[in-house]
Amino acid sequence: MESLIPLAYLVAAVTFILGLKGLSSPTTAVMGNRIAAAGMLVAVIATFFTQDVQGGVPVIVAGMLVGGVAGFAGARMVKMTAMPQMVALFNGAGGGAAALVSILEFSRELGAGRGTPPFGVTLPTLLALVIGAVSFSGSAIAFGKLQGIVTPRAFRYAGQQIVTGALVAAIGALALGLLVSSLGTATIDPMLLIVATTILALVFGVALVLPIGGADMPVVISLLNAYTGLAVAMAGFTLANQLLVVAGTLVGASGTILTRLMSKAMNRSLGNVLFGAFGAATAAGAAGPTGGDDGRTIRSIGPEDAAILLSYAQNVIVVPGYGLAVAQAQHSVRELADLLESKGINVKYAIHPVAGRMPGHMNVLLAEANVPYDKLYDMDQINPEFQRADVALVIGANDVTNPAARSNPSSPIYGMPILDVDKAQNVIVIKRSMKPGFAGIDNDLYLDPKTAMLFGDAKDAVGKVVQELKRAA
Ligand code: NDP
Repeated sequence: MESLIPLAYLVAAVTFILGLKGLSSPTTAVMGNRIAAAGMLVAVIATFFTQDVQGGVPVIVAGMLVGGVAGFAGARMVKMTAMPQMVALFNGAGGGAAALVSILEFSRELGAGRGTPPFGVTLPTLLALVIGAVSFSGSAIAFGKLQGIVTPRAFRYAGQQIVTGALVAAIGALALGLLVSSLGTATIDPMLLIVATTILALVFGVALVLPIGGADMPVVISLLNAYTGLAVAMAGFTLANQLLVVAGTLVGASGTILTRLMSKAMNRSLGNVLFGAFGAATAAGAAGPTGGDDGRTIRSIGPEDAAILLSYAQNVIVVPGYGLAVAQAQHSVRELADLLESKGINVKYAIHPVAGRMPGHMNVLLAEANVPYDKLYDMDQINPEFQRADVALVIGANDVTNPAARSNPSSPIYGMPILDVDKAQNVIVIKRSMKPGFAGIDNDLYLDPKTAMLFGDAKDAVGKVVQELKRAA
């Protein structure tokens, strides 16, 4: 049986790659997910036949039961809007697991009186420990920010760069101590070094993510994903398990690619995200503006006016955002689009890469309501079309439409590419109040004379517009 294990691992590795390929398109994503999950099952079963686990089967099964039940219940119960937090939590658990494996491997070697493992083992084990611990505590803070437990704004203080730099230097010094002891010249108790390294890495994870605020969170979340992948790959070297190395590397590589894509979408370098001040400016008041300094005021309309505006349009662009997910308005939006199309009106959807709270959030939501994929347009494709649109219908989107990103150098989101909603002939914004979005900043779009605010819950408001359109038909 043991001789079949490498074959099972190879099959699993191939399914992971096929799964990733499937995940690259909404039409094949579900199938991709199933293929990779089946491969993971093969890998788990095969692992039970390895010699390493023979003595520990009851403990492993107990751990799998606890983790499996928690994961299953969590995934079943989580609301769609809380999915990003859950992803952050699961991601952190992966990093934490890699760190724990490292600590156990170190203590097993030390307990057996063999001293620090040789350099070739200590190096990856140390990397798994540090990266895994950073990913664990960083993901916990990201979870807190998305959940609203920790302020989503950038948390900064005087001398912060010095503290972060000192933490990196201290972790480096401790790691060096361990590497030296792996060469057989231990001067300090290696277990002490491991404990201190773990604590400092955990603190560093917190220090890394706390100062990152507002619109930069998508980049950080995908970066932490990549960290977890790398930590798992390193743990694979420690345990001499090729499948862990492959799986971890795939997660690390795809997380890195996603991080690059997200940075590009935000028009930011990674260094700028981690050490810059994006999203650090003081946020607007909780209620938001009611008028501009230049005398401009908010124009509020009802569902009847919105229905009239829409029924006279030729081209309508729907701009979904996080509020659409909160309200679960995707089916109502689909109904509205169907109704408009039945009147010969052209409807397209503009998808900003960081709309919502996780990459692909809007695509997933709209796919749930069977909105055809060919009606979904990326930012670069749709932006030139806004000036030809009679109505841009913004539903629960805020930051991704804020013209300050283009025109106000002092805005914390200055430089972030946005959807050019303000170039449409008319803009209807559906949201509940004048409160800001995730980045915590006011949106000048709402003071634009072309903009009409339709206040209310997205599902409710869209439903009312649908009723008005049906009544007028
Ligand atoms: P925003 O967070 O900017 O705005 C969402 C708006 O939806 C709010 O202003 C809110 O206004 C409104 N809203 C909330 N609930 C409802 C409801 N029930 N009905 C109607 N409206 C509602 O969302 P965007 O999608 O525009 O931008 C995403 C933001 O999140 C960006 O800053 C992005 O960087 C960040 N982010 C994105 C991640 C990603 O991977 N996509 C991950 C983490 C953060 P009101 O309360 O007045 O209703």
